[in-house]
Amino acid sequence: MSAPADIRKKVEKLREKVNYHNYRYYVLDNPEVTDAEYDRLMRELESLEREYPDLVTPDSPTQRVGAQPVEAFGTVRHAVPMLSIQNALSEDEVREWIGRVERGLSGEKVRYSLEPKLDGLAVELVYEGGVLTVGSTRGDGHTGENITENLRTVKSIPLRLLGRKVKVPSLIEVRGEVVIKRDDFERLNEERRKAGEEPFANPRNAAAGSCRQLNPAITASRPLTIFIYGIGRVEGLSFETHSEALDYLTELGLKVVDKRRVVDTCEEIFDFYGELLEARETFPYEMDGLVIKVNSFVLQKRLGVRSRSPRYILAYKFPAHEGTTKLEDVVWQVGRTGALTPVAVLKPVGIGGVTVSRASLHNQDEIRRLDARIGDTVVVQRAGDVIPKVVRVVASKRTGGEKAPQVPEKCPVCNSGVIFTEGEVVPRCQNIACPAQVKGNIIHFAQRTALDIDGLGEKLVDQLVDNGMIRDPGDLYSLKEEEVAALERMGRKSAENLINAIDKSRSAPFARVIYGLGIRHVGEHVARVLAGHFSNIDQLASASVDELVGIPEIGPIVADSIYGYFREDHNRRFLGKLRDAGVRLEAEEGPQKKRIFEGLTFVFTGGLDTMTRDEAGEMVESLGGRASGSVSARTDYVVAGKDPGSKLDKAKKLGIEIIDEEKFRRMCNLD
Ligand SMILES: [Zn+2]
Repeated sequence: MSAPADIRKKVEKLREKVNYHNYRYYVLDNPEVTDAEYDRLMRELESLEREYPDLVTPDSPTQRVGAQPVEAFGTVRHAVPMLSIQNALSEDEVREWIGRVERGLSGEKVRYSLEPKLDGLAVELVYEGGVLTVGSTRGDGHTGENITENLRTVKSIPLRLLGRKVKVPSLIEVRGEVVIKRDDFERLNEERRKAGEEPFANPRNAAAGSCRQLNPAITASRPLTIFIYGIGRVEGLSFETHSEALDYLTELGLKVVDKRRVVDTCEEIFDFYGELLEARETFPYEMDGLVIKVNSFVLQKRLGVRSRSPRYILAYKFPAHEGTTKLEDVVWQVGRTGALTPVAVLKPVGIGGVTVSRASLHNQDEIRRLDARIGDTVVVQRAGDVIPKVVRVVASKRTGGEKAPQVPEKCPVCNSGVIFTEGEVVPRCQNIACPAQVKGNIIHFAQRTALDIDGLGEKLVDQLVDNGMIRDPGDLYSLKEEEVAALERMGRKSAENLINAIDKSRSAPFARVIYGLGIRHVGEHVARVLAGHFSNIDQLASASVDELVGIPEIGPIVADSIYGYFREDHNRRFLGKLRDAGVRLEAEEGPQKKRIFEGLTFVFTGGLDTMTRDEAGEMVESLGGRASGSVSARTDYVVAGKDPGSKLDKAKKLGIEIIDEEKFRRMCNLD
């Protein structure tokens, strides 16, 4: 059925609104409406489009995800080549470049536009009549791969340019960098490791790998974003300066990095470089330098291009995150679960301004994969705030005297036997009284996100355990102020503070206590799920594996681990101490007790037998979750009733867990 004019108008209005709010959320990071309001607009649009399919256009916000996987990418020829950039590694090289630029422009006043160089995948987006028509990789600069369907799923890329304040050109090609946040990168790698997949080497590889998926649904599931840094071809518009062009691009709804500046002198360039370098470790995205451009387009043109790279752009790179040094030894650290982790002892080396003498080797498999031997020359990488790691061995520097590190047969801390549990690559010390494990457990118990015992640091725990004053975290509650005050480097005041902090921890929330127990595979989130499900520790302790697996988000490995934990005598003794000390071992009264869906988003499709969809949505929200009208990568569960709609297909494409009404009722504890 063809849509009446008023419906057509309504759909256009809705799209404009959705696009605008999308822009506020993903481009400006400054939403104007709640998620629920956004979802409501999206739902309304979806339902009108379902009713009037002839109104669906490719640039509708409902059409981001949905393209079928392809066998291979086509190619795209860039109308204006995406040239490479010359690099500088020192202030001298920057000064030389400035000298060449200013000589080349004899006497002109030159201003420089500065912006960070982000490390991701360079792409080009073509907008015709304001609508995204082609997205491609840089490729060799002249020809790239057509990844339009994948780029459409990146939410900070508008499918239609905003024309609220400025005129939208009939054709514009913009260039940008697709990037991934460093913490999202870590999370993604963690998931890949858990799934037995090879982790990405760095955020750039993760961004590039995600964009070059043959199945756009996979790209859609990755937390990618884009920063636009320039224009290729444009029709019907011209700009005087690069900075003016970037300002214009932001008005079109494109995401442009806001850390940028226009300056006149070398010194100002070095100042900005220094600022960026300082911000490097805290900036959410990987930055690898500063891009300096001659700001005036007229002057850029006069400078021209020299053998494949323009004379008017320079990348002033940050010092490498990598260093080469000698692997002097491999030592084994014992964690709170008894796991032995290899640590590389290095000949100290300066990397990015920090001296590194130890690096992670992850586990025995990693040592084998690297083929790292004691005496080898190795490349060490530092990224962000994470512990440096050995990334490769320089095999050509071997002398033949190197030797492979051996997994110790005895625990380096307590000297008891080390065993490999079936199916695990990690050797473990089996002695539950091992001081390394005891100390690790106490520190875990006392940390801020668990029982939050302020002042109980590593050094103090060492003393308490080494002096035989405590054997598990339960013993903390029988410590006397005088005993603590008598320890080295402790005064009466700090002893009093510690005892007060221990005292206060008795009323820590139930979920944090569960987390503090240190049950393997029970992180903060799982602990909250358990605290929402069980009203006290005895219920949790007596739950069967089947019962545990029936709880949403609890898988068989976690369930086994929980079940096993409560069947160990020493854990029961430890719990007894907590009980005697009056630590909270039951759920709090009140509404937070039942927020079992905290952080989860549900989408309902099709008819339900025992309740209406609205009632189901209210149920989800009363349990702390969100009910949404549309399926996206942020959806956790799709509840499929009778005659489910297109949402089911979309959920399948995105790999979202689909459950039936019965399972949903069980999750809500209704049956
Ligand atoms: Zn041990």
